[in-house]
Order: sequence, then C-alpha cells, then structure tokens
Amino acid sequence: MSVFFSGRYAQLEPYTPGEQPQDRRYIKLNTNESPFPPSPGVLEAVREEAGRLQLYSDPESRTVTCALAEHYGLQPDQVLVGNGSDELLNFAFMAYCDDACPALFPDVTYGFYPVFAGLNRIPMIEVPLREDFSVCIDDYLDLKGTVFLANPNAPTGLALSSAEIERMLKARPSYMHVIDEAYVDFGAESVLPLIHRFENLLVIQTFSKSRSLAGARLGFAAGQAPLIRDLNTLKYSTNPYNVNRMTSAAGTAALKEDEYYRRNARIIMENRAWTAGELKRLGFTVTDSRANFLFAACPELPGEKYYLAMKERGILVRYLKGPRLKPFVRITVGTKQQMETLIRETETLLKTEAATHA
Ligand code: PMP
Repeated sequence: MSVFFSGRYAQLEPYTPGEQPQDRRYIKLNTNESPFPPSPGVLEAVREEAGRLQLYSDPESRTVTCALAEHYGLQPDQVLVGNGSDELLNFAFMAYCDDACPALFPDVTYGFYPVFAGLNRIPMIEVPLREDFSVCIDDYLDLKGTVFLANPNAPTGLALSSAEIERMLKARPSYMHVIDEAYVDFGAESVLPLIHRFENLLVIQTFSKSRSLAGARLGFAAGQAPLIRDLNTLKYSTNPYNVNRMTSAAGTAALKEDEYYRRNARIIMENRAWTAGELKRLGFTVTDSRANFLFAACPELPGEKYYLAMKERGILVRYLKGPRLKPFVRITVGTKQQMETLIRETETLLKTEAATHA
C-alpha cells in the first residue's frame, strides 16, 4: 500500500478471482466458464463491430437491451445491461443498502458480496446456511435489510424454488431483494416473471456462463422501471459507456442463437449428472447442484490437498477458503472428455493415497 492510498480503503479485502495460469495448459474447471465457444453469429457480429471501435458505444445500449426485453417478455425500461453482472451487483449494493439498511446474505455464498459491502462501507449480516448447506427463507423473514441471494447458490449449487422466493417477497414488502441468477440456466427456476408483480425484486443474470461470454463481460438486471432508473443514476455517475460495442454486438447475436446455448446447457447438465454419479461412486460427498459446477468433498483428502493434487495432474478445480468449506472443492462441469479425465485422475489419486496409508 502506498502512503497515498486513502484510509477509507485501507482495510478493504479485495475479491480473489480464480487462477488463470499461463505457465502450462490445464483442464480448467475452476472458474465456471463454459467449455463451448461462442456461437458463429457472435464471432461474426464481433468482427464486424470491431471496425467501428473509433466510436463510443451507445450509452443506453439500446440494441442489446431491446433484444433482452423481447427475449424475456419485458419492457426495455425494465432492463439494464452491465459490464458483467458484478458491476450490476455493485450498483445494487450501492443503491439499496446503507447504515440503516444492512446487506443480508448467506455465510456461504458468492465471495464478492462481502467485498461489495466493504467497498461501499455497508453493514452486513451473514446468515448461516443450514447444516445441509441449504438456504432457509424463514431465517430472513424477521431481519431488517436488503437480501442478496445467489440462486442457485455458489459454491453449493443448491437452488430455491420460485415459490419460496415469492414467499419472502410477500413477507418483506418494505425491503429489497436482489436475486443473482448467474447459474439459473442449468436447471433452476428463474424468478424473472415475478418482477411484474413485485416492486421489491431485482433479478440479475449474466452471459458469462450459459452463453459462453465470460471474456466479453455482459450481465443484465431486470426489475420494475423505478429500480432500473436507480441503477442508471449510479451507472451514469461512474461509467456511462459501461458496455463496449463488441460486447453489445456479441450479446445481441447470442440471443438470436438461443438454441445453440440451450443445447450446450443440456450437455452440461448431462455431464454434471454423470460426474456427480462417478464422484459418489468414489466416495465423495456431492450436493444436488443446479449450476454448471459441483460442490464435492473428497473422502480421503481435505479440499485444499485434493485441489493441489489435481493441479499437479494438470486439472484446475477451485478451493475456497472458509471454515465450513475445508473438506470441499468446487468443480466446474466441462465437456464429457474433460470430466472423464477428472474422474480417471481422481481414481488414480485415491489409489495412490490408499497405498501410502496401507
Ligand atoms: N454471481 C455469481 C454467483 C457468480 O458466481 C459470478 C461469477 N464469478 C458472478 C455473479 C459474476 O459474473 P459476471 O460478472 O461474469 O457476470
């Protein structure tokens, strides 16, 4: 830290992104990216738009916003696109929390939530997940503050039903609820249709996972028009051109080729089921994930050791620090071939472990 760094941020603990090593080629199962490339129309649209990069992007991102509105049955003023959903989540922390209105979220969830709270100096209450890692809506009903729920949750992959979330929206009409649906396309139920009936609901989704655009940085928030106006106030106070031309073009083109992405999501779900079955056969504990990753505990090794052993074998999985997470790793679901390699290497590792302890 330099002597010039503001004391306001001296205590800030920044988010640690998953490793993106350049030293060798790994099978990358650590950052929940899609193993599939963007669709052909996306590549074409990006190439074409690159020729117009001398011009600023449209600050209203009208083309992709209207395409999203049409795709999800919304009005354009109910949608705001962002530079990844992380940007929109940060806006939501800024917009809907303050000293009198803390941020509420599970003790085990997306690691960026406490960082956004810290960055914006917002008090936070971390609500413990139940023993089985599930979110219990009843635990939130008597608390004051804005609820942030990743659904499916990360890193557990467990999802709440839309009916459960609706029960919370009804029970807490004077508080906001931000539902982060980054992984919803892999088999969970979206609450997007509820925005028409609930003024206290903001839904945030991303193109980074099911739509193979993690590197383009595109997310969107959906909610009633006054909420979108709130977020726009913050956007125009930070970065009016938050979504670049190529990313807008990529997002618009991706929506036109939806069937390609839906097929890929189905393949990921099949591979998830296969991998979960194999890991269980090998003695792992595996949660019932509705996301493009598995949350699993190795029978022989704590999470960190399993992660290191896999890294040595050329496979990256994610080990997350946290008192309740020690036995676990988060494994992104990739292609069938990648998952077969993971299982083969895990099986060999377990045999070696058994031999050394015999
Ligand atoms: N929410 C959750 C739960 C996530 O895991 C991620 C991915 N790191 C994000 C939001 C952010 O995704 P992006 O900024 O790429 O849209």
